[in-house]
Amino acid sequence: MRLWIKDPLAIFADDAERGVVVEGTQIVERVGRGKTPERIGATFDALGHVVLPGLINTHHHFYQTLTRAHPSAINKPLFPWLVALYPIWARLKPNHLRIASRLALTELMLSGCTTAADHHYLYPEGLENAVDIEVEEARSLGMRMTVSRGSMNLSEKDGGLPPDSVVQDEETILADSERVLKLFHDPRPGAQIRVALAPCSPFSISKNLMIESARLAERYDCQLHTHLCETQDEEQFCLDLYGLRPVDLLEETGWMSNRVWLAHGVHFNAEEIARLGKAKVGVCHCAASNMVLASGICPTCELEAAGSPLGLGVDGSASNDSSNMMEAIRHALMVGRLRYGADKVTHRDVLRWGTQGSARCLGRSDIGRIAEGYEADLALFKLGEPRFSGAHDPLAALVLCGAHRADRVMIAGEWRIVDGEPVGLDLAALIAEHHEAARDFA
Ligand SMILES: [Zn+2]
Repeated sequence: MRLWIKDPLAIFADDAERGVVVEGTQIVERVGRGKTPERIGATFDALGHVVLPGLINTHHHFYQTLTRAHPSAINKPLFPWLVALYPIWARLKPNHLRIASRLALTELMLSGCTTAADHHYLYPEGLENAVDIEVEEARSLGMRMTVSRGSMNLSEKDGGLPPDSVVQDEETILADSERVLKLFHDPRPGAQIRVALAPCSPFSISKNLMIESARLAERYDCQLHTHLCETQDEEQFCLDLYGLRPVDLLEETGWMSNRVWLAHGVHFNAEEIARLGKAKVGVCHCAASNMVLASGICPTCELEAAGSPLGLGVDGSASNDSSNMMEAIRHALMVGRLRYGADKVTHRDVLRWGTQGSARCLGRSDIGRIAEGYEADLALFKLGEPRFSGAHDPLAALVLCGAHRADRVMIAGEWRIVDGEPVGLDLAALIAEHHEAARDFA
């Protein structure tokens, strides 16, 4: 059936003043000014809605929703923050990850997010099926996901940062990477689930694990992800251990390719930005996390100008501490203006980063835009709250007045949020269960 999402208050798309037509899982028609589509089976009146392509989150750690605002970690920069949290996170059990994933996915979806990438790198004993758990939760909520099979194999005893109890050996990691790629990775357009391989960060993995992960990614046609150039501690760690700067480590391990997207990318020099752009290495800007941990500011405009796909991410919920994609878009605008000036980063730029840019980071050309042939992933916002009252430009108002909850969200042509509530899910019960699980980490 053809559904016309009709006459939106505003829409982040060209030539779609009268809305869009959705059929099956896809957008089949944009309806321009003065036009009327034919053969319409149903109409959704969007007169009160601002319509965006579904937002795409390219970096997260779902399990960290259980340790938000944790007293052991607040008010610390990255390395001491991690060292304080690793032993607490080591208690993570499958039931914790399941409820944390459900909460994080729901929280994201409520903010207008339709595709999420999670980076799960923590593997204490008993949590071997972490990827399977995340896939099950995404499927049951109808969310699109890139599940990043993270890994750490360099622990304290080998000069790394994490404790021995949360890492695995290289053989185990690579065997499981191949297992989950075979089971879950769908490289076809319109895929609900994709798998990426994601060795955690230079201070928690071996060089060989990066090399072997890149080889596997080539064989299975999947993306590669890692944290890079987040802090100056990390740069120093790479110089001390490898005699290389982090970007040179990427080069040496076969990671300078468009299969790769990096989380953070704060501390690059000009020559490195040019190399990354030429290789089309994507960067996920995590503005809130970088501000909370005082890591620095990602050179977003230089990276985009050099040719790198530029996406946005909320990052883990212990360093943000929310999982709200509209907030991530607003943060990117504000910190971008602080760095580049008030006329250099516009609301349209940050909306583009959180949709098209993020899609490119995930290696996808089927989501992130409202256009014919793209998946019908949409986020619809109302401007009825006091914060929007008196606003003139509806699209700018979403970003400038701080929209944070979608009224409707559609994923692959199905409404998943209706009237600001997740369909078929008891939100109060979910929060109660998640809060109870979080007590195990007190
Ligand atoms: Zn992260």
